[in-house]
Parts: sequence; structure tokens; C-alpha cells
Amino acid sequence: MNKVRVFLSLGSNLGERIDYLTQAVFKLKRVENIQLVQTSAVYETEPVGYKAQNHFLNIVVELNTTFTVRQLFRATQNIENSLGRQRFEKWGPRTIDIDILFYNAQVISSTDLTVPHPEFKNRMFVLKPLSEIAAEYVPPLHSDTIYVLYKKCNDKSAVNPFMNSKTFLQLVK
Ligand code: ADP
Ligand code: MG
Repeated sequence: MNKVRVFLSLGSNLGERIDYLTQAVFKLKRVENIQLVQTSAVYETEPVGYKAQNHFLNIVVELNTTFTVRQLFRATQNIENSLGRQRFEKWGPRTIDIDILFYNAQVISSTDLTVPHPEFKNRMFVLKPLSEIAAEYVPPLHSDTIYVLYKKCNDKSAVNPFMNSKTFLQLVK
């Protein structure tokens, strides 16, 4: 089976945020059909939308997988569930959020899954880390590179370096 190039965005704004990111990437790596290719640095970011919540830690990761997009989505949701929904109220802040940004050239528009992620180019917390690891990548349905989309993005929320990728990967090991 062919290996597919995938980018995911992960975020946490509750509890030991770096631990949730570390555990999520560790769990992704351990899935047999998934190989971790690279990760961005970790950034601390202002919440977009509901401002009255903690700042997020965000990261973008590149994977190779032999999973179909549906199988991958099931895997990321399982990881969210295993790290997430233990003790917190509905609509509250999240221990971990995993979004599928791109799955090769595939375009999906269904009730529960939209790929490319519909908001990626409006979010500095996605574009900044993504431009670090995939500046020249041209997403499906787009003609600009990630770097150009990053430069064009109007999101002015703060996205500050929190931990470099090497240090993060040492935590994941
Ligand atoms: P958000 O990520 O926008 O903060 P949630 O994580 O609560 O919100 O996701 C809400 C729903 O978004 C999920 O139940 C999922 O079905 C849907 N969804 C649609 N497209 C995607 C995608 N590309 N990646 C992850 N979830 C997606
Ligand atoms: Mg999500």
C-alpha cells in the first residue's frame, strides 16, 4: 500500500499542556500504520474565538501513513478520547485537540470530516509552525505555498515559541 503524506495540528489548553501534546505524539508514533516524519516547534498561542480560556500550546506534525483518511481520523479521535474527555464539562477547554490538516491531495467534504481543514489558512497557530516544516508545500485546492499563505494570513493573535522541536522530540521518546 502507498504511504500518504499527512499533516496534523495538535493543541492543548488544559492541565499539563506539554504532557498532553507529548502523549498524543507518542501514541501516534506507536500506531503501526503511522510513521512520524517531523514536528514543528511548540508554540504558545492566544485562544481564537472564546477568549476567556487558557492559552494553548500548539504543534504541527508530519506523518506518513498507510491508513485511509477514515482510518486515520478514527485513530486521532481514539487518541483524543483516551487523553481528553475525562473530567471536564461540555464545551469546556480541551486537554487535546487533533485536527487533520491535509491528507495527500485528497479533498473530503462530509458532515464529520473536511480536508483540507476549513480553517487552516485563517489560523496563525497552524500556519506559523507549518511554515517551519513545510514552507514549500502547496495544499490541495490552493495555488500558494504554505509560506505565502502564512505571509498573507490576517490572524493577528500572538503565537510565541515555547519549546524547540528537538527538546519536544526528546520528551516524546
Ligand atoms: P475544533 O477542532 O474546530 O476546535 P472539535 O475538535 O470539537 O473542534 O471538532 C469538532 C468536529 O470537527 C469533530 O467532531 C470532527 O467531526 C469535525 N472535523 C471536521 N473536519 C475535521 C478535520 N479535518 N480534522 C478533525 N476534525 C474534523
Ligand atoms: Mg478538532
